[in-house]
Amino acid sequence: MRLAIAGFALESVTFLPETTDIPDFERGALRGPALVEGLAGTNTSLGGFLEVCKAEEIEPVGLVWAGAGAAASASEAAFDKYVGEIVAGLARVKGEVDGLLLHLHGALATPSRRNADAQVLQAIRAEVGPDFPIAVAFDLHGNIGPDVVDAATVLAGYHYSPHTDMAVTGKRAARMLNARLRGEQGLAMGYARPGIILPSIFSATCLEPLATLMQHARDLELHTPGVLDISIFCGFAYADVPDCGMSMVVVTDGDAGLAQRTADRLAGLARDWRSVLFRRELVLDVATGVSQALEIAGNASKPVCVLEHADRLNDSTYTLRELLARDLGGAKVFAPFMFDPESAAACVAAGTGASIDLQLCGKTSPQAGRPLNVTAKVIWAGEKTVKVTGPLYTGATFKLGNAAVLDVGNGVTVSLISIQWSAIDRDPFDQFGLKPEDFDIILLRSKTHFRHVYTPLCEEILIVDTPDWGPADVTTLPYEFADRKSFPFVA
Ligand SMILES: [Zn+2]
Repeated sequence: MRLAIAGFALESVTFLPETTDIPDFERGALRGPALVEGLAGTNTSLGGFLEVCKAEEIEPVGLVWAGAGAAASASEAAFDKYVGEIVAGLARVKGEVDGLLLHLHGALATPSRRNADAQVLQAIRAEVGPDFPIAVAFDLHGNIGPDVVDAATVLAGYHYSPHTDMAVTGKRAARMLNARLRGEQGLAMGYARPGIILPSIFSATCLEPLATLMQHARDLELHTPGVLDISIFCGFAYADVPDCGMSMVVVTDGDAGLAQRTADRLAGLARDWRSVLFRRELVLDVATGVSQALEIAGNASKPVCVLEHADRLNDSTYTLRELLARDLGGAKVFAPFMFDPESAAACVAAGTGASIDLQLCGKTSPQAGRPLNVTAKVIWAGEKTVKVTGPLYTGATFKLGNAAVLDVGNGVTVSLISIQWSAIDRDPFDQFGLKPEDFDIILLRSKTHFRHVYTPLCEEILIVDTPDWGPADVTTLPYEFADRKSFPFVA
């Protein structure tokens, strides 16, 4: 057997100005044999596809992989290019392969395409026809619409956030498709929506009652004969699209009624729990968050994590401004992986040891909190590429471009990068000669992915809300396309 393998993924923050363009996708893009070689063994959906191919003696045929993490909407040119490549690749090999294993995020949008993932699948269907076997592995934050379910033969989404199960999800999707290809089982999918637009900060699957909802889905998979796989999608609140919000997809061995009833039951449960899924009591304003962090840090043996979660592009300055203005009583602060290519380039030009005046971060949009005027000492500066050691994207190589570690005064250390990436593991410390235990407060911008590493590493995690593009209160956002009949817009 031979299976084509491809992926095109972006978590699109449609409220951001600008677009995510071809160079952003091209940085990590892989094609043909390089895709197979580069992603084998990685904790990614495609890594999972490749593992199943190896185990089941299937020849993988790499087409193209292009992803750009979480950023502004994809440009129309990027959509046309990568979807065009996947379709052209399938046109070339469709007579020689038995199906397609595809990774999509589920929150892809372009300025003119508000159901872009469905349009990717529809473009593929136009080439290969309605019966060609296609398995899709999605992110848990996918806004999965009915068109997506209609166009896929089978689909699966991550069960966890942090997404420690990316490869496992690729394997789930691939195994279900392969079992059908071998004639061992049928496939049917049920789909339901509870009408909830859940902010990313509340999509951490360790938080109750989401943890119980997820566990219930695992129990149903184990104990319901015929149910093969269940995906509870948390959706992505910051993509303003008609299908924005949570959804449930249940795969059975061919019983469409069972699939639909199970999906409806899970959607009903989420609906019943809608208000408690929003853990608003965990969210603090910046001043309160910093005060509590200092108080806890005074008596703690481990650093306190402050989470500026509303920041979508790793450059917002609200909490940093507060930390620079306050008397920290000798507390040491580290704000890793802040995005500021301009300042990073200036630091590299100035060199290690230099003192330099910077307008630091806060530049990606007016919501980012304005740049900070600082005089910084350059502790280290240079080009940086990291091979990920953390539990997510393990083994993948990420270019960070010009990078710098800066002492910006008042006990605050900042590290800068020039290509978007979030601090979610120990790499911002270990790969820059720093140690977490040398700091009292660590200021992060991740939503859920940091938890796998930072929950044990930190004394406490304090969430602060800021008026940036990813707030805990989604009712403050200027939605035009999302369904305003969803919770929390309507009780
Ligand atoms: Zn996600």
